[in-house]
Amino acid sequence: MSELINLTAADLAAKLASGEVSSVEATRAHLDRISAVDGELHAFLATDAERSLAAARSVDERRAAGEDLGALAGVPLAVKDVLVTTDMPSTSGSKMLEGYRSPYDATAVAKARAAGLVNIGKTNMDEFAMGSSTENSAYGPTFNQWNTERVPGGSGGGSAVAVGAFEAPLALGSDTGGSIRQPAALTGTVGAKPTYGGVSRYGAIALASSLDQIGPCARTVLDTALLHDVVVGHDRHDATSLDMQWPSMAEAARGGVDPSTLKGLRVGVVKQLMLDGAQAGVKSRFEEALALLETQGAEIVEIDAPHFEYAVAAYYLILPAEASSNLAKYDSVRFGLRVSPEGGGTVESVMSETRAAGFGAEVKRRIILGTYALSAGYYDAYYGSAQKVRTLIQRDFANAFDRVDVIASPTAPTTAWKIGTHDADPMQDYLNDATTIPANLAGIPGLSLPIGLAAEDGLPVGLQLMAPAFEDARLYRAGAAVESLIADRDGRAFWQQSPMFGAVNVEGGAR
Ligand code: GLN
Repeated sequence: MSELINLTAADLAAKLASGEVSSVEATRAHLDRISAVDGELHAFLATDAERSLAAARSVDERRAAGEDLGALAGVPLAVKDVLVTTDMPSTSGSKMLEGYRSPYDATAVAKARAAGLVNIGKTNMDEFAMGSSTENSAYGPTFNQWNTERVPGGSGGGSAVAVGAFEAPLALGSDTGGSIRQPAALTGTVGAKPTYGGVSRYGAIALASSLDQIGPCARTVLDTALLHDVVVGHDRHDATSLDMQWPSMAEAARGGVDPSTLKGLRVGVVKQLMLDGAQAGVKSRFEEALALLETQGAEIVEIDAPHFEYAVAAYYLILPAEASSNLAKYDSVRFGLRVSPEGGGTVESVMSETRAAGFGAEVKRRIILGTYALSAGYYDAYYGSAQKVRTLIQRDFANAFDRVDVIASPTAPTTAWKIGTHDADPMQDYLNDATTIPANLAGIPGLSLPIGLAAEDGLPVGLQLMAPAFEDARLYRAGAAVESLIADRDGRAFWQQSPMFGAVNVEGGAR
């Protein structure tokens, strides 16, 4: 049954719908794959074969009973550990929540379950989604399936590797400053950050609530769109959730398979996102992708967005400020671990020892920074100024979208780096998000898809497309068109070029 893992979600769904394969078979094939390769990749923090197979069996029974199931019914789904689920522990990559069992499912997970998707496991992530490499996970890093000495990006490295290594056809992630798009780029997979409010955040363990967004990860643009369609939509449990009708993202992606859809598309290239320090092989793959777009009649327009230069600085005030407040509840009383000092201690010493033991270095760094930025006397100077910069960045986007339909940039300035290289300097991690952070500050949608390998290291390069708020479908249409042009150029789909494609176990695959 191992060939089942090499199918796209769309193709697997078709076989499930026709009865050619059962969800139990598809789920077992992916669980076997996880057993075979995850010892080396560590994309998953938790699996529960029995529960996953029971869920699959019940989908098969519903289908047999003639129930009208969703387009992806029976397809396995990996879930980033930032989303709470009842069936497995939910830790957000932190010791603070080790073994935590949620009494309810996050809305995105509940919607996926209702659509017949089968949760196959919880994926590894930087602690509380703080990071760009998954090295900040309290449970150890995830390894990039293209080269296991390299990081997979972060914070959602687990979800990206799970789909990239054929351990799951689909995964859910969260993107606060790039945590879906940047790992997609570094692992040669596809990921989308929806318009803010498009997908419910209910049950997503909060990092920075004004920036967090849940979204889909997969190996193809169409698969990503299919999962987007399942999780998008209004939720009364999330006050920021948008109450509107969304067009079908999958239909948009299918439309994009004809590259003539690019004719007349105005594609903005923002000067400030073409970073001086970007890797040469990333730049040249990006230039090639623009040239491909031009051959199809797209128009490339240079855009000036003067305030993007301050995006990373503003983000690293707004995010820690919101995070310090969101993480205050992990105090051993309301939530989380409890460490009791010898002899009992005071309430305060229990809380402080718990927080000292439960949080990792990066989380502590951000809580301290955020608390400082919000403190009386500094609020206006730091948080207030950052909010003003945020408004200016939103205006830069609005001006840009007066002139163009989409904005294109490299998703990340570099390919995947060696594990451990940024240990001494978190700033290196922060700068890897310079290209993805502006979309979060503005609440607009972004999509990353692979466009080839960098010449100098043979590692994947991602293209980021951004569109105005609510125009997510535009990204899927354009993204699918680029994807098919890249496949034509290379003679096969990018995901079929993965060293792990077709490999039943990791030997002869990764490295
Ligand atoms: N890498 C960014 C950070 O460390 C983004 C994180 C995210 O999107 N969750 O904050």
